[in-house]
Amino acid sequence: MAKALGGKLHSKILLGLLLGAALGILANTLLGGRHPLTEWVNHYVAGPLGQVFLRMLFMIVMPLVFASITLGVAGLGDLRRVGRIGGKAVGYFLATTFLAAATGLFFVGVLKPGDAIDAPVKAELMATYAGDASARLASASAGGFGVHTFVNIVTRNPVKSAAEGDMLGVIFFGLVFGAALTLIPAAKAKPLLDLLESLNEAVIAIVGMAMRLAPYGVTALIFGVTSRFGFALLLPLGGYMLVVLGALLFHALVNLSLVLRLLVGIPPALFFSRVRSAVVTAFSTSSSSATLPTALEAAEQGLGVPPKIAGFVLPLGSTMCMNGTAIFEGITAIFLCQVFGVELSLGQMAVVVVMAVITAVGAAGVPGGSIPLLAGIVAMVGVPGEGIAIILGVDRLLDMSRTAVNVYGDLSATAYVARSEKLWDASLVPAGTLAAERA
Ligand code: ASP
Repeated sequence: MAKALGGKLHSKILLGLLLGAALGILANTLLGGRHPLTEWVNHYVAGPLGQVFLRMLFMIVMPLVFASITLGVAGLGDLRRVGRIGGKAVGYFLATTFLAAATGLFFVGVLKPGDAIDAPVKAELMATYAGDASARLASASAGGFGVHTFVNIVTRNPVKSAAEGDMLGVIFFGLVFGAALTLIPAAKAKPLLDLLESLNEAVIAIVGMAMRLAPYGVTALIFGVTSRFGFALLLPLGGYMLVVLGALLFHALVNLSLVLRLLVGIPPALFFSRVRSAVVTAFSTSSSSATLPTALEAAEQGLGVPPKIAGFVLPLGSTMCMNGTAIFEGITAIFLCQVFGVELSLGQMAVVVVMAVITAVGAAGVPGGSIPLLAGIVAMVGVPGEGIAIILGVDRLLDMSRTAVNVYGDLSATAYVARSEKLWDASLVPAGTLAAERA
């Protein structure tokens, strides 16, 4: 498995990203967005390749979440300790997500990218993506957000939760199951714990196989995006995209670096070099869930965080802690207000920040997971829900970038919790063993 993080593989993934993007833009520029040849390549080559890579990761997410949460809780032993660590993790998730949303609002409020879009461009964008937007809105209203969101965490059927990708349900079952294992006699718990350890190891070996596919999968996924969308959409929405990307970068480089230095006590450059493989995987898959296996590996082997902490905090973080998503949601809501000429009071802005935090916690860690929830915020501030149509075309690129920040935030949370529990500090980062460092 150490090979999966190897420097050579790592460079290959980055090369794949660049190659896929270059080929896609080239195809788009030479042939246009929906040329039969590009469509053929996307349908028969790039699409399937990208899907196989993503599916290899997705197929192990549920067993991995169950095994790592159960082992994490059972490893912590004392249930009061589990509660304390869980409380710390959730506190950290909320605080950094709040900081992220406020940063996003500051950027969009000062730079005002929405004022630059003219009415005809707006109408054209709406017309192109309206169908897609209404489909997403329909799926949003089917779920909704309310008391039942919390009740539903207590899964009725963990197997069904796993089959339907309901991560919180599986996490909850893992928590209860791990707690139960600490309550029965140790001799009775041991066979199951051993079994779960083996499951964990085997699943991580599958990650190794999937990562061998990564360079090709990544090339294919990026080609699919750039060949369809090229530069055409970039022009009218360029300002908006730059504001989102700038705020994401600011949060990762300034806010989280300060947190890493002050609260975690690790130089940000060292931290980044140890978790780079997870950030690259997040960027290429646009999915915090699909990145979980790589993130666990980076935390445990790259940073040296004890598995019982990483295995507990990271699965929670991958669904609850989405710094990048909060930035994106806050900016997009205000951007659409600017486009539609909706003026917000200071109080309404504060509501947007709070909603961005809540929906970032509620969003699923899958590509485009936050879009249905975004519809809720947008409708609340008085912008027509279909307004989301305006940004859908460029969402994949923003999704990749915000997911990278989401995962970076999750990893910082893990290091923070491990440090505050006095189980880890920067001096325990394994020296020079991670090939990614040498790459
Ligand atoms: N794709 C994001 C993630 O998995 C969620 C989102 O913002 O759409 O972290």
